[in-house]
Amino acid sequence: MKFNQLLLAGAVTFTLAACQQANDSDAKAEPAQAKPASVAKASAALQPTSSERFDIYAEFTLTSDLSHLSDKQKQMVAKLIDASTVMDKLFWQQAYGDKAHLLNSIADPKARRFADINYGPWDRLDGDKPFLSTIEEKPLGAAFYPADMTKDEYEQWRKANQMLIAADPFLESYTMVERDKDGKLVLVPYHQKFASDLAIAAQYLREAAELAENQEFANYLKMRADAITSNQYQASDFAWMDMKTNPVEVVIGPIENYEDQLFGYRTAYESYVLIKDLAWSERLAKFAQFLPELQRGLPVDDAYKAEMPGTDADLNAYDVVYYAGHSNAGSKTIAINLPNDEAVQLAKGTRRLQLKNAMQAKFDKILVPISEQLIAADQRQYITFDAFFANTMFHEVAHGLGIKNTINDNGMVRTALKETASALEEGKADILGLYMITELFNKGEIKEGQLMDNYVTFLAGIFRSVRFGASSAHGKANMVRFNYFKEKGAFSRDEKTGHYRVNFEKMTTAMNDLSNLLLTIQGDGDYAKAKTLLDEKGQISAQLQQDLDTLTKANIPVDITFNQGKAILGIQ
Ligand code: ZN
Repeated sequence: MKFNQLLLAGAVTFTLAACQQANDSDAKAEPAQAKPASVAKASAALQPTSSERFDIYAEFTLTSDLSHLSDKQKQMVAKLIDASTVMDKLFWQQAYGDKAHLLNSIADPKARRFADINYGPWDRLDGDKPFLSTIEEKPLGAAFYPADMTKDEYEQWRKANQMLIAADPFLESYTMVERDKDGKLVLVPYHQKFASDLAIAAQYLREAAELAENQEFANYLKMRADAITSNQYQASDFAWMDMKTNPVEVVIGPIENYEDQLFGYRTAYESYVLIKDLAWSERLAKFAQFLPELQRGLPVDDAYKAEMPGTDADLNAYDVVYYAGHSNAGSKTIAINLPNDEAVQLAKGTRRLQLKNAMQAKFDKILVPISEQLIAADQRQYITFDAFFANTMFHEVAHGLGIKNTINDNGMVRTALKETASALEEGKADILGLYMITELFNKGEIKEGQLMDNYVTFLAGIFRSVRFGASSAHGKANMVRFNYFKEKGAFSRDEKTGHYRVNFEKMTTAMNDLSNLLLTIQGDGDYAKAKTLLDEKGQISAQLQQDLDTLTKANIPVDITFNQGKAILGIQ
C-alpha cells in the first residue's frame, strides 16, 4: 500500500515498537556491510566456505513438565505452537526471502542445517558473514527494504515525509519498505503484506483462546489475533500486562527491531511458547518492589534519575517449549523484557520473563566449560548457576531503570542516540543489573551465595557473550564494558596461563563509573559521545581474540539450537 493511500484509509493507528531496550541478554543481530545482496538469485551448487563454523551450536531438547496442565490446556499449547510456525515463516521473509529456494539450493546437509539455524546464508554469530561462496554480504536492512535502496535514499524519503512520521511515530515499526511501479519508496503495512498467513495465525490464536481455562489469557489471545491482523498492537500489549495467573504464556508478533540494522525501526516476527515455573517465579517476585529505591540510588546526578519506573511489572520464570522466527535465529534469548511500547511501559511497567531451561542449558554447556579455560583456577568456585541466573534476571530488571527522555531538548533517548541507542541501552542494562545485585546484597535482601559469585560469573559471561561477535548492540555493549573494566583494573590476565582474575574492589568502582557514564550519555542524548565510545571501546583486541580462539579450539559451543515441537512434548 502506498503511503498516501494509507493515510486515506485513515483507520490505521500504529503503535510503537521500535525499541532498542527490548529484550534478551544474548545477541540477536549482527550487521554486515551496507551493500545490496543479490541473495534471492542464489543458484544451485552452492559451496560452503566456512564448514568449521557448522558445529558451533549445541543441540538441546526443549521440554517442560506439563503434568499440571489439563488436556484442554495441552491442546491449547499445541495451537500456540501452530501459530508460532507462521511467525517463523514470516520472519524468513523479513530476514532473507525465499526459504525453500535457498535450502533446496544447498547440497551439503551441514551447510543447509546452518542456513536453517541462521534463517539465511549469513552467519549471525560471526558478523553476518556469508558462509556460502556465491552469497554476497547481508544488507543492513535485511529484507525490510528494497535491496537496491541506500540509507541516504531512505533518509531523503523521511525528510520529505516528516509530517506523516510525526503524525504517527510508530508507523515505521510495522511496515515493509518497497518500491512502487515508478520506483518510488512506499510503505506496506505488515497486516496487508502478510495478510493470508496472519489470518491463519490469528485463527490458531482464537482456537487456543477457546481452549484456555484462564479468562485473562483467553482474552489476550483474542486481542492478539486482532492485533496481528490489524497492525494495532497497543490494546493487546496492555492486556498482556494484566495477565498474572495464567500457567501458559505466549509472546507472539512483530516485536524486536534488531533485525533492521540499517535503522532499527522495523520489527521482526517471532514467538515464544512458555510454561510458567511457579516455584522460581515466587523467588523472583520479591525483587520488583525495590525498583523505585534502586532508581533513587543510581550512581548518577539527580537529573538523570528523576523518572520513576513502573512498579506494576512482574518477574517470572518459565520453561520455553517453542521458539520461532527472530527468537530462534542464531543465538537464543534467555530472558525477555516486554512490551516495547513505551506508552505501555510508562503506564504499567514491563513484564520480565526468565527462560530457565534455556539458561540452564547455556550455563551447563557453555559457561562452565568457558570458565575452565579462561578463569583463574581458584576463582572458578564462584561460577554458579544462581549467579548466572541473577545476572541475567537483573539485566532485564535494569532496562526499567535509568532514563527514557533526555534532560535537554533532545527528545527521547532512543531517537537522540539513533543507531547507537541499542548498544547504550544494552550496556546500561548489563552494568545496572550488576549494580542492583550489589545493592541488594548490601541491603541483605539477597542472601544466597556471595557477591563474588556474581562478579566472577559476570566476567565469564562477557566471554560467553562476546563470542557472538562485537557487531550487534549486545556485542558492542559487551566489548565496551570489557575494555572499560580492563582499563580500570577490574580484572587482570595472567600472562603465563591466560587466566583472568577479578579484582573485587576495582570492579565495584568500575561498575559505578561505567553506570554513571552510560546514564549521562543517555540523559544528554549525546550521539557524538555514544558513537565515540562504541568506536573506541567496542572492538575485540588481538589478545582477547586469541583467548576466544582457545575456546573454539576446545570445541566449546557458542550457542544452542533446539529440538522442539509438539511431538517432543507429546501433545497434538
Ligand atoms: Zn537487554
